[in-house]
Order: sequence, then structure tokens, then C-alpha cells
Amino acid sequence: MRLCSIASGSSGNCIYAGSDSTHILVDTGISRKRIEEGLCTLGIKGDELAGILITHEHSDHIQGLGVFSRKYGIPIFGTPGTLQGIRQCRSLGVMPDGLFHEIHVDESFEIGDLGVHPFKISHDANEPCGFRIENGGKAVAVATDLGIYDDYTVDRLRNLDGILLEANHDIHMLEVGPYPYPLKQRVRGDRGHLSNELSGRLLCDILHDNLQFAILGHLSKENNYAELAYETVKLEVSLGDNPYKGDDIRLLVAKRDQVSEIMSI
Ligand SMILES: [Zn+2]
Ligand SMILES: [Zn+2]
Repeated sequence: MRLCSIASGSSGNCIYAGSDSTHILVDTGISRKRIEEGLCTLGIKGDELAGILITHEHSDHIQGLGVFSRKYGIPIFGTPGTLQGIRQCRSLGVMPDGLFHEIHVDESFEIGDLGVHPFKISHDANEPCGFRIENGGKAVAVATDLGIYDDYTVDRLRNLDGILLEANHDIHMLEVGPYPYPLKQRVRGDRGHLSNELSGRLLCDILHDNLQFAILGHLSKENNYAELAYETVKLEVSLGDNPYKGDDIRLLVAKRDQVSEIMSI
């Protein structure tokens, strides 16, 4: 399996996951051109994609969906609430109804030789979810836009081989930063985004000997930066109640505007 961030951050998200024969995207929150360029780095053409999974209808996850899916006719998978949100989003243009496929949290389905398991997340959208994706005994997950996490989340992220995990903001940068008060409350609320500290604690809870890498993603442009997210998560892992140290796992930080290293497991 391979996992790669084509773009990740509050300004736009698009993640590739796939096996040798099945290629999918999680979210299309960047332009068609940037999606195509990202896929090109992976040696994949748009018409080779078997599906697009959408986590939720916020624009940083669907901005490029209309243009991209119309060009290639790629099936779109989302929860009923997310698909409703997409249909109501006028800026996407007319979406051919035949492309939409309803999925439900905690109901697994298959795309080619990939097993997909959507799981509920706490975020201020209609019916948001994260995805666990499996192939040949390996598993990766995309878990961003989490206001909080609990035992349910940890259960869904057990025994992974790799993960793209949200490390959205530094709590202190958010506090003293430029966001208006209501937006600060939204970001740090139970249906907002995961801070670096909480991201590190969640990672700590799901660490096991076979978790090979974690790509930290969905970083806020105003309230975080790569080195801080990296160091904070690493520290939380070292301080956490488990036998692991921060150096035991390969940590990467996904860039907002660059394709990440392609992680193979
Ligand atoms: Zn969102
Ligand atoms: Zn988002």
C-alpha cells in the first residue's frame, strides 16, 4: 500500500491512498490542476482513480471536486449528510448524480482491492467521517478535522501500519493569534480541530510495534508551523504512558502546497 499527502492544511486537503491496482483520493480540496500534478508525481493519471472519498463538505475538502470528478467521471463516496452538503454547494457547479455513492459510518465497503471503513469524527459539518483503508493485511487511516477523540476513535485506529493524522494548531499560538474570538472558540471546540498536544496523545494511544509512520497534517497556517507540530507530537509520544519514545516512529509533516514523501508499507 501507499499513502501520500498531495496537499494538507486548512487551505486545502487531498490525500492519495492505494494498492498496486486500486488508486483512490481522500478529499479534493485543491484545484484540478494541482490534483493532476500531485497524481503525476505518483505516476498515476486521473482516469486511473477508482474513487474519491469525501470526509465532509467544508470547502478545504471539496473545492476541486466538481471540476475534477466531471473531467474523469470518478465515483464519489460520502455519508448522506456530506453528499447533501456537496449538492448544496453551488460553487462546485452541476454534479452528475450518478457519481454519488452513499456510505455510512461503521459500514465497511470495497473499492477494487481496498477495504474502506468510514468512522465518525467530531467536527462541525453535516456528517463528517475519517477513513481506515486496508489491503493485503496492511492498514492506513486518514484522520483529520477531529474536535476531540475518544475510545471509539482509538478503537478505529488500532493496528495501523501508517496514518495521516491532524495536528492543526498550537494552543498558545491560537490564543494569542489573529483569529477573532468566535473562530478561536470554534477551532479549539469539541467540533473543531485537534491541537498538536492532543494529536500527540492520540498517536500515543494508537502506537504499536508495526505503526511505521505518521504524517502530521491539516496544519493551520496562522496557528502552527511544521517544526512546532513535529516537536510537540514527538514530545507527547515520549512523555506518554507507553514504552515508546518519539524517535521510535517515523514522523513527517505534510506541507500545504507540496506533495509529501510517498510512504509505502
Ligand atoms: Zn472542516
Ligand atoms: Zn478541514
